Amino acid sequence: MNQPAQKEDRTWRVIDIINWAKEYLKSKDFENPRREIEWLLQDLLGCSRVDLYLRFEELLGRSELETLKIWVKRRIEREPLQYITGKTEFYGREFAVDKNVLIPRPETEQLIETVLETIGKDGNPKILDIGTGSGCIGVTLAAEIPAAVVDATDVNDKILSVAMKNTKSHGLENIRFLKSDFLNDEISHQYDLAVCNPPYIPIGEMSGLAVEIRDYEPSIALTDNQDGLLFYRRMTEKAQQIVRKGGWIICEVGLGSHPGKAHRLFAMKGFESVELIKDLNGDDRVLKVRVN
Ligand code: GLN
Repeated sequence: MNQPAQKEDRTWRVIDIINWAKEYLKSKDFENPRREIEWLLQDLLGCSRVDLYLRFEELLGRSELETLKIWVKRRIEREPLQYITGKTEFYGREFAVDKNVLIPRPETEQLIETVLETIGKDGNPKILDIGTGSGCIGVTLAAEIPAAVVDATDVNDKILSVAMKNTKSHGLENIRFLKSDFLNDEISHQYDLAVCNPPYIPIGEMSGLAVEIRDYEPSIALTDNQDGLLFYRRMTEKAQQIVRKGGWIICEVGLGSHPGKAHRLFAMKGFESVELIKDLNGDDRVLKVRVN
C-alpha cells in the first residue's frame, strides 16, 4: 500500500491500517480521514465500529489487504464511499447502490416523514414513485405502509434492476416496476399519492458540485439539463391525471431559490394547498401539494 518494496511482506493489523490510512487520507485532504478508513474496514470485515475497535490487533489477510488497497485507491480518486462498498443506509434500511443510481441522501428521509405524517401507515394507498433510482423512496414506503401498493418508475433497466434488488432484499411484494420516462410517457393509472425526488439541479450549477457528486453520480439523476424545474412543470400539467382529487403530490426540492420557484409553479396553476416543509438542517426540502 504505497510502501517501499522492502516493506511489502510486513504484516498489517487493523490498527496499523487505521494509523497508516489516517495519515495518507489526511495528506490527500480528506476531512475525516480516520472515519473514512474505519468505514472501509467495517465493510471489509463485516463488523460494527465497536467491533472494529475490539479487533485492533487482528491481522488482515492477503486478499483483504488487496481489496482494501483497491478501495483506498478509488476513494483517493474521490469516488463516493457508497459506490465503493456498494451500499448505504436510508431510513434505517440498507440499500444497494451502484453508479447507475443516485446515492440516497439523509435529507430525503424528510420526504418519507412527510408522507407518513400526511397519509399514515394504516391505509392501502396506491402510490406512484416517479424516478425511483435505488428505490429508496418507493421501497421504504412499501415497507412502512404494508397495505400500500407502489408503482415505481424509472427510465432504464439498469436503474430498475437496482431498485428491484432492493425490493427483494427487503422481502417486499407490494411494489411493481415500470419502465417509463415521466417527461415523455403517459402514466395510465391514477394514484392516491405521487412521490418524486426529481433531478433538480440547474445545468448551470453542475460544474460547481463536489467532485464526488459531479464525476460519479449519474447526471440524469442530478440535472434536467435545464433550470431544475422541468419535472415540477410536468407535474403541474399531469397532476389531475395521475393523482385522484384530494390526493397528494409530495416531492423533494433543492436549495436556495429552488423551493420557492417550485412552490410558485404549483400555486400559479391554481393548486390550493401548496406547502414547503423543512428538513432537519432547517432547509426547505419537501413540497407537499394537494390535488384539487
Ligand atoms: N428516488 C431516488 C432518490 O431519492 C432517485 C432520485 C433521482 O434519481 N433524482 O434517491
